[in-house]
This record gives sequence, structure tokens and C-alpha cells, in this order.
Amino acid sequence: MPNFYGQTHRRPTWRRRDRNEGFRIVAVKPGDVRRLSRKAGEVKIPKVGWVRFRWSRPALQAKSFRVTRDAAGRWHVAFAVIPQPIPAPGTGAVVGVDRGVTVSAALSTGELLVVPPLRETEKKRLLRLQRRLARARRGSKRRGKTKAAIARLKAREGDRRKDWVEKTSTDLARRFDVIAVEDLKISAMTRSAKGTVEAPGRNVRQKAGLNQGILTNGWGRLVTRVQDKAPDRVRMIDPRYTSQTCNACGHIARESRKSQALFLCVACKHRDHADVNAAKNLRDTPQGIAVAARGGLLLGGPVNREPQRDLLLVG
Ligand SMILES: [Zn+2]
Repeated sequence: MPNFYGQTHRRPTWRRRDRNEGFRIVAVKPGDVRRLSRKAGEVKIPKVGWVRFRWSRPALQAKSFRVTRDAAGRWHVAFAVIPQPIPAPGTGAVVGVDRGVTVSAALSTGELLVVPPLRETEKKRLLRLQRRLARARRGSKRRGKTKAAIARLKAREGDRRKDWVEKTSTDLARRFDVIAVEDLKISAMTRSAKGTVEAPGRNVRQKAGLNQGILTNGWGRLVTRVQDKAPDRVRMIDPRYTSQTCNACGHIARESRKSQALFLCVACKHRDHADVNAAKNLRDTPQGIAVAARGGLLLGGPVNREPQRDLLLVG
């Protein structure tokens, strides 16, 4: 609720069956986790006993862990460990990252990064399953099976996106000293239904199709992860006009954005990929302020949460 009133998060929602299943175990003793082999480990869960899991991370001592079951029915165990931030390369290199719809993230270096989507066959299968779900009677066995199959497909899509976010954020943190991204809080204001402050192109982009929510989400996660991995090296930029400003001459005109992909300056005829041009503008905006991860300390916030970097650093 403090986050909601602080306007950084949406209103808390109810826990949902099959979607938010799990529990957390605290006060873990060193002997409660043991490694069986290179790939397998075991954890002692109260009232349950030893439970095996797939050892997928380097060994680290954790004081608490979470056991969850996702919508696709997969069980996970996550140990709470605060990872070391990724060291800056020290080259002074600055990169601008612009988000888009067809291109998930455009870098000022010209690289265009795309979140791997579901394959065509997978999309077709998803649609078919969703139609079947709509016809199935509530509470029936068939409905449950269909639901599970849909959840497995969605999980695959989500896993791919998550993997992409992790790899991309690590890559950015390793290669660049400063990472300039658009400030989502400002974007949210300028891109509201009424707001025509931004280029009309941008608003269209935002509303483009059913991917909108997913992309916004993925983008937020990418920014968050870069902040986690490179604290104090992320620069938040007011995104207004970044898509209509010419990076070569600074001329601002929405007519310069010719299409989804093409930027052609009406003043100097400078030509670039529209998203790359925007990324370069983000990179070159100087008055950006380095923002601490997740907006720093929350006084009076809930205390029974898992360790977070900022909270621990302050103490
Ligand atoms: Zn120009």
C-alpha cells in the first residue's frame, strides 16, 4: 500500500489460486542446504523434509528461501542472496536505450534487440487452446486441462522474455559505464490517453496491438534489472521529444519521423533508424540524474520483506 500511495506501483491485488502459490522459509541454518552433485542439491523444508532441486546457480549462503509453484505447475526454490553489482568497464562509455514495439530495445550503438516471441506454431496453438477454453464448462476436467496447457505456453513465453531481460541487462552493465534510459514515470504522464505532448507516432506505438502490456512490463523489468546490476550507473531521462529530435542537428519536428522505422530530419536530411535516433538522444541528454535503484528508502514501509539492496546498504 505505501508503494501504491507513493504512486510507484499499482494497487495490491488479491492472491490468486494457481498463480501465486508458495511460501517462504526464514532462519535457514547452513546445514539445511546441501549439494548432492554438480547439478543437484537438497534443501530441508520444515514439516516436509529433504527436497531435491536442480542446482542452477553458484553456491551462496542464504538466510531465507522461497518455494513457489507457478501457473504452469512448476516448482521453484529461490534463495535470497544479494548479488554483487557488476563492475563498470571504466571506459567512460555511455549508451542510450530506447524501447519500442517492433524492436524491444534500440541501443545508441545501432544495435536492435528483440525479445524472442512465441513461434507462429505456438501462437496458433495458443489461440486454439483459448477457443477451447471458452467452450469448456466451468469446473470441468477438460477446462482444467486446457487451462494448464495455456499456462505452459504462457510460461514458455515468459521464460524467454525473462531470459532476454537478464542477458540484456548483464550485457549493458558490463559494456557501458552509464546507461541512459527513458524515465517511465514521466512517460506514463506524457503518454496518457489525453496527452498529445508526445509525438503522435509514439502514442500509436504504445497502443499497437496486444503486445503493449507485455512490452511495457518487459521494459520496466529491464530497467529494474539494469539498476540492480549497475546501481548509480543508470541515468533516467525525460523522454519527451526524444523521438522527434534530430540527433545530428537538434531540430525538433514530428514530421521528421517518417515511419515506424525511419527518421529523416526535415531540417538537415539526417537519416537514421527512428529508434536508434531516439536512443542517441537519450544518450546525449546531459541533465539526466543518476537515480538510485527503486527510488531509495521507504520510511514506514513493510518490514517483513526479503532483503533488498538499498535497505541493507543504508543500515
Ligand atoms: Zn537534423
